[in-house]
Amino acid sequence: MPYSRSFRCLLCGECCRGRGGIYLDREGAEAAARHLGLPFPVAERLFLEQERPGLWSVLNRPGGHCLLFRGGVCLIHPVKPPICRAWPRLRALVTDPLAFLEAAEACPGLARLDFAGFSAGYREGRLPLPPPSFKAALLARAGGGR
Ligand code: SF4
Ligand code: SF4
Repeated sequence: MPYSRSFRCLLCGECCRGRGGIYLDREGAEAAARHLGLPFPVAERLFLEQERPGLWSVLNRPGGHCLLFRGGVCLIHPVKPPICRAWPRLRALVTDPLAFLEAAEACPGLARLDFAGFSAGYREGRLPLPPPSFKAALLARAGGGR
């Protein structure tokens, strides 16, 4: 089967469903609130949960999509969390063929690609690898959560 080499998002919304792990630091959380025209405490009440100082997660509907996924689009697209901006170019997916195959079962955009083509630039060092953990990167920026 011929595979495409360039990723194209098919806008199915599957990656916005039910997995958690969508983190924002204070700057990102405030930007999300501003983008929606909401005072920060209102945004916190509606769709954020503070996990620790300097780190918020975006909540999901139980067993379903992210609370910010509405009508097939992300309500904070221009300021969306770093992991959402990076997906599917996550470190695990560009370095681990099994993680890639697992993700491709959920993401039809990835399923059009083969691991070798998708990850070549990263494995050959031509493209910078994403951070091992976006959560850790945000915490480090926030000064270790202090
Ligand atoms: S699951 Fe893949 S194809 Fe679907 S919206 Fe997310 S990135 Fe795009
Ligand atoms: S913040 Fe936006 S892109 Fe990220 S999971 Fe929620 S709806 Fe999807």
